[in-house]
Amino acid sequence: MKKLGFGMMRLPLLQSEDVSSVNEEEVNKMVDTFIANGFTYFDTAYMYHAKESEKIVNRCLVKRYPRDVYTLATKLPTMFLTSENDNLKFFNEQLEKCGVSYFDYYLLHNLNVDNYSKAEKYNSFAFCKQMKAEGKIKHLGFSFHGLSKDLNKILEKHADDVEFVQLQINYIDWNNPNVESRLCYETVKKYGKKIIVMEPIKGGALANLPEKASKILREYDDTKSIASYAIRFAASLDDVMVVLSGMSNMAQLEDNISYMKDFVPLDNKEFNMLLSLVDIINEANSIACTSCNYCIDKCPKHICIPEYFKLYNNGRSHLGKSFNNLKPEYEKLSLNHGLASSCIKCKQCERMCPQHLEITKYLEEVAKAFEN
Ligand code: SF4
Ligand code: SF4
Repeated sequence: MKKLGFGMMRLPLLQSEDVSSVNEEEVNKMVDTFIANGFTYFDTAYMYHAKESEKIVNRCLVKRYPRDVYTLATKLPTMFLTSENDNLKFFNEQLEKCGVSYFDYYLLHNLNVDNYSKAEKYNSFAFCKQMKAEGKIKHLGFSFHGLSKDLNKILEKHADDVEFVQLQINYIDWNNPNVESRLCYETVKKYGKKIIVMEPIKGGALANLPEKASKILREYDDTKSIASYAIRFAASLDDVMVVLSGMSNMAQLEDNISYMKDFVPLDNKEFNMLLSLVDIINEANSIACTSCNYCIDKCPKHICIPEYFKLYNNGRSHLGKSFNNLKPEYEKLSLNHGLASSCIKCKQCERMCPQHLEITKYLEEVAKAFEN
């Protein structure tokens, strides 16, 4: 299998603020190009694109290609489980939404401490093993965004149940103590499991570097895109089976294909060059939000958290737009969403955030920047 996977969580949109308004005509073309170039792995989840992603997979992939042309991964929404019966309820709903009779790869989604305890309480591992025995799951794993000690606890108990683990791995988080990409990677390797990589470009942040960091990469080789280094960093690691990229347009897809079709791993010098950029990038990017949208569903004030964070980062970063220049954009967003200052600090969003961001604290910064 080629090492690039098509992540179906950042698909092209018809209206930028509405994550359910996916441009399916464009997705069809992207799927066609991806498959025509020999790539096969598609990754979706129950909650992506306001719960529309699995239906889009059905229309843009499943109905248009024979079942043996692609492999499909989706995930049990552990965060929404309220009873043991929910395992089957969600699973059947997902089969129907995707229009398939089995999943090639099935993951227990985002096993942070809360979700893992739900998965244990409602016997989700046993349920998934049963689905595997019935041939409805070909390969079983889980995705994980937490710290290595918690990952070790899960694997201590369930190593025999799973074949792979999906981890957030990118060069900016490799030694980040809040993400522990390297330690999590080493933990999975210790148990001899395969690894699928998510967020290799950290929600786009590593495709759009501060000028000082971009210059270093351009001077090294100006024929390669900035994003290509991030994808290749993850794909170069031993035992990485596939690297997911949430591609949002044809240009990104074609760029990814250009270097992943005949993949060449990074050498040591390149690997270390990327790690040397981390301080420069961290200095410029103030809020490490990946725009995954996991936080927005439960917000009682309908605050568009990732959009506000993106605007705030733009105001502080290399893009040269000050907060004042960006204020009209903030005001436009707030017409249909709560203001940053309307946050009541219920912290429901923080419990969902795979990056463990102090969202409420950052929203105070956003309000200070745009609301005075
Ligand atoms: S803490 Fe604020 S932003 Fe987060 S869910 Fe509650 S109201 Fe929304
Ligand atoms: S704040 Fe966290 S959960 Fe929300 S979009 Fe950003 S990374 Fe995702």
